[in-house]
Amino acid sequence: MTLNIHPAIAELEKQIIAYCRHVHQHPELGFQEVETAKYILEQIKGIDLDIRHPVARTGIVATMRNGKGPCIALRADMDALPMQETGDVSYKSVNDGVMHACGHDGHIAILLGTILALDQLRDQWRGTVKFIFQPAEEGHGGARHMVAEGALKDPDAAAIFGLHVWNYQDFGAIGIKSGPILAAADTFDIAVKGVGGHGAMPQGTVDAVYVAAQLVVSLQSIVSRNLDPLQSGVVSIGQIQGGYNYNIIADEVALKGTARAYREEDRLLIKSRLQGICDGIAATYGAAIELDYRDGYPPTVNDPAMTEVARRAARKVAGDGVGEPYLSMGGEDMTYFLREVPGCFIFLGSARPEHKDEKVPHHCSHFDFDERALAVGASVFLEIVREMLPAGG
Ligand SMILES: [Zn+2]
Ligand SMILES: [Zn+2]
Repeated sequence: MTLNIHPAIAELEKQIIAYCRHVHQHPELGFQEVETAKYILEQIKGIDLDIRHPVARTGIVATMRNGKGPCIALRADMDALPMQETGDVSYKSVNDGVMHACGHDGHIAILLGTILALDQLRDQWRGTVKFIFQPAEEGHGGARHMVAEGALKDPDAAAIFGLHVWNYQDFGAIGIKSGPILAAADTFDIAVKGVGGHGAMPQGTVDAVYVAAQLVVSLQSIVSRNLDPLQSGVVSIGQIQGGYNYNIIADEVALKGTARAYREEDRLLIKSRLQGICDGIAATYGAAIELDYRDGYPPTVNDPAMTEVARRAARKVAGDGVGEPYLSMGGEDMTYFLREVPGCFIFLGSARPEHKDEKVPHHCSHFDFDERALAVGASVFLEIVREMLPAGG
């Protein structure tokens, strides 16, 4: 593996790692990234930037103008997760019950490093770059609020790029792919209402536990029997609750689940089949079944032309380390930016070599990644800017 870290980034690497550790040590939950935003602003205060803050409560849009040319945006998310850090690192979270377990601390550090480097290298590009620090990626759709508050407007961004440190791939690998890369992530509640009674005398009752069991089994037919087998989808029931005792037939059961799909049409199919199965089972067993389906993030889809730009940029940094990403049915609110303007979301391999056989997954309480990935990420952003906004252009 030969990595070609841009000299300006190599020079800044220690600083970038220090940014990451500071943010890691002081994590904040979605829409509460007050100190995080303050810290970011502090690091860039000497640089010639137009700052908009707060956007979407805690977000920052920093615009760097460097002569005539198009405008592109680079994005980082800022929020941490509501969990206790159990790992043993010197920069362990000092905020009880809050932890950067997804790597958004790294995204902030990468974007800060990119700002510093682009400021030093103004002769190597021409145009405008918007640096977007968004709140609340983890479930609250901070990106949607940033878009609604005009983060991509004035000046209008023609494209957007973002990345995620990715412990499912080794350090040095970069995963880039056109088309859908992360799933729509919806949630649903199902309330089953029957008629309770004595466990020894089921006649005359409508057993909500029995009806719920039919539902759990039947819902798995959506992916196995209705979805095109060459497409991806998941329906998972995560919680089932109801009943009273050994000898009581339950009158109510509540189920909670999630539905995932890569394509909007598959998402709609899953949604309508869920309703159909609930209605069908209700009619068959005489129960009342209510489905409350809530749309989460839509699928994340990379633009083919912008994916090519990202791939060229990444190859300059990581050569043949650039390949297919490790994909999952996870969701990402980068989607909301990518629905407004074409762009590409990149997976930055960050698994430590010593974790070779035992990858440390995102959202686990001892999450940690290879900090050398930070310089790789900043170099990729830098090369994207030089591709999109060439100095001679
Ligand atoms: Zn996450
Ligand atoms: Zn994340």
